[in-house]
Amino acid sequence: MRKIDKIILHCSATKEGQSFTTKDIDTWHRARGFAQIGYHHVVYLDGSVHKGRDESLIGAHCLGQNATSVGVCYIGGLDSQGRPKDTRTPQQKAALDKLVEELKTKYPQAKVFGHNEFAAKACPCFDVKKEYRQ
Ligand SMILES: [Zn+2]
Repeated sequence: MRKIDKIILHCSATKEGQSFTTKDIDTWHRARGFAQIGYHHVVYLDGSVHKGRDESLIGAHCLGQNATSVGVCYIGGLDSQGRPKDTRTPQQKAALDKLVEELKTKYPQAKVFGHNEFAAKACPCFDVKKEYRQ
């Protein structure tokens, strides 16, 4: 297994309340030239967690950080006008908490970050440092 020192959180940059699947993301990412979906886990609006790229494989989700990270994405992140917004449903928040705990157990040396800590982006549209590193 590759070394994992970061768990990086993302949003799908899709509008609040709109439902998308790992298959949709896989299509988008292939269209951008990726081999397959770039995230390792995707959290749907209902809080269900779905597998993307296998964790043993380097993801395609955060430039410069992919080799040693796991990428997690929740569906949402934009308001109805397409502006950045924390659109996580209570089910998604609970599922993210549980998934992050599981990943930290699996990779004890890993710390949790938001994509926006490595790139000039709003993603994942909430303060990961405040929620997961304090
Ligand atoms: Zn992102």
